[in-house]
Amino acid sequence: MVSVVKNLQFVLNEIELARKSRQLAKDEPVTLVAVTKNHGVEMMQQAIDAGVLHIGENRIQEAAEKFKSLNREVTRHLIGHLQTNKAKQAVRLFDLIHSVDSENLASTIDKAAYSIGKIQDILIQVNLAKEDSKSGVYEENLQSLIETVDTLKNIRLRGFMLIAPNYSDVENCRPLFRRMYEIFCAVKKTRQNFDFLSMGMTHDYKIAIEEGANVVRIGTAIFGERNYG
Ligand SMILES: *Cc1c(COP(=O)(O)O)cnc(C)c1O
Repeated sequence: MVSVVKNLQFVLNEIELARKSRQLAKDEPVTLVAVTKNHGVEMMQQAIDAGVLHIGENRIQEAAEKFKSLNREVTRHLIGHLQTNKAKQAVRLFDLIHSVDSENLASTIDKAAYSIGKIQDILIQVNLAKEDSKSGVYEENLQSLIETVDTLKNIRLRGFMLIAPNYSDVENCRPLFRRMYEIFCAVKKTRQNFDFLSMGMTHDYKIAIEEGANVVRIGTAIFGERNYG
């Protein structure tokens, strides 16, 4: 059986080691988002009982079901691609939406947030490696998306999210993380309330942290392999 508590301790320790070994942002804390997608609510509850404060889900329906039975306040992160027709549910369910990558999606979330009187925190997902299989705005279109987001009153841009390619040699991710951190810092200089750089998953979180990530999204290393059967 998977021991969520043990795995969590291991991961938290690795996060600390990576954070202390980095040159940049040495004193900045790293937030762990425990990714519970495809795992039952018992696993989610175990992680929360063990002290996890941030939960990540990638599907609206699944998240809605699981969040119903939570007995403690946690910060809820939507890490997966969001379809515009689910924006209303998403703004009700999530504190931070990591996956905004188009003007259309941004303005749909803005309207949905307005309709329930909320200011929705978001991240823009960037597709630095230009992978066809992944969502995310390309670097050359990022500035224009930021400008659009800034015109929308009911969403607030809090940072960026990156999913690195699944290279067999994980070191190949490093230049992408480094580039993303550079872009993040340049944008951060010009804004307020812009503080989250969400990058790093089970296979690459140590490198992501070394290169400046301050939010990591980790599932498998805590909960074991997901069963998509
Ligand atoms: C599933 C998922 C994760 C977690 O992946 P693991 O490899 O299990 O740690 C992180 N980020 C996103 C966007 C995901 O969809």
